[in-house]
Amino acid sequence: MSVPKTQKAVIFETNGGPLMYKDIPVPVPKPNEILINVKYSGVCHTDLHAWKGDWPLATKLPLVGGHEGAGVVVAKGSNVTNFEIGDLAGNKWLNGSCMGCEYCQQGAEPNCPDADLSGYTHDGSFQQYATADAVQAAKIPKGTDLAGVAPILCAGVTVYKALKTAELRPGQWVAISGAGGGLGSLAVQYAVAMGLRVLGIDGGDEKASLVKSLGGEAFVDFTKTKDVVAEIQKITNGGPHGVINVSVSPAAISQSCQYVRTLGKVVLVGLPADAVCESPVFEHVVKSIQIRGSYVGNRQDTAEAIDFFTRGLVKSPIKIVGLSELAEVYKLMEKGAIVGRYVLDTSK
Ligand code: NAD
Ligand code: ZN
Repeated sequence: MSVPKTQKAVIFETNGGPLMYKDIPVPVPKPNEILINVKYSGVCHTDLHAWKGDWPLATKLPLVGGHEGAGVVVAKGSNVTNFEIGDLAGNKWLNGSCMGCEYCQQGAEPNCPDADLSGYTHDGSFQQYATADAVQAAKIPKGTDLAGVAPILCAGVTVYKALKTAELRPGQWVAISGAGGGLGSLAVQYAVAMGLRVLGIDGGDEKASLVKSLGGEAFVDFTKTKDVVAEIQKITNGGPHGVINVSVSPAAISQSCQYVRTLGKVVLVGLPADAVCESPVFEHVVKSIQIRGSYVGNRQDTAEAIDFFTRGLVKSPIKIVGLSELAEVYKLMEKGAIVGRYVLDTSK
């Protein structure tokens, strides 16, 4: 396969600075890396946090964002044995990890202190050609719809792992806070596929009908409901057994500690800037609730999450636009106006 010397990318030089759609050099894979010709990339709210510099972890600068890239392997380093040219592969958030620390050794590679992150510390998928450590790159089965699978690479893997972290049983209630967004719309479907009863929380009629169409049994509109806590507890007859927090609202996250059922589990996934999760200690103890953090997923979680997609059990509601339109997508995302996920076509 012939690989060009230059390519289109969206790159920024300072956090919050101009998002420039321009020609940059095609990266050369290191011995442990593959070069993926990215066809489509999902846009995750994390990419917006990275551009704005929201978190207490510095990004690489200048930076090409993106970590839901799906494409074709067009070159590989001399040490790579698990991918062939022509295979389908994905750039995910965890680009690489040390594989030697105590966390990597137990399969918690995302928690590696030396993790290399696509679209954060390593140029990501908002370009036509991106490098990925072959150990962590996602394997995508031949024949897979690349635009459809892109959001699975972060949003899908993350919510699938978060649902496992909640340790719920079929028939129990799970609340998805932020159910109409990119992660939330997939969380609803994974939860339904796992036999859970889903209550979605988000704002607006469009998100309400999306959540219902994906199998959500109930929907609470936080923009219209006076007492969100009481309403959720009423619908679920005492509170959901688990909550997956994928909203970017600190208030919504703290609220979930109140409406969760006695003995229930609150899973933290969404990462609003400077947020603190507040849980009143008395109720926390007497109800014996648990708050757990969940951070993307490991290689096995990735393979399992993609398998749900391949089997037709989950499908991200996507809207495809050109790579050059990333700045517009961020504007909509900032307003909470995106229903499902935007996916960028890197050829436009
Ligand atoms: P998104 O913008 O697509 O979705 C967020 C949704 O939350 C929107 O639909 C919005 O309307 C809704 N929302 C806003 N306020 C709310 C409230 N008070 N109650 C309920 N819903 C509310 O974002 P996304 O791409 O799905 O990402 C969500 C968050 O998850 C981001 O902070 C992102 O950085 C984070 N994230 C974390 C991980 C992880 O591993 N922990 C992985 C990926 C993304
Ligand atoms: Zn993401």
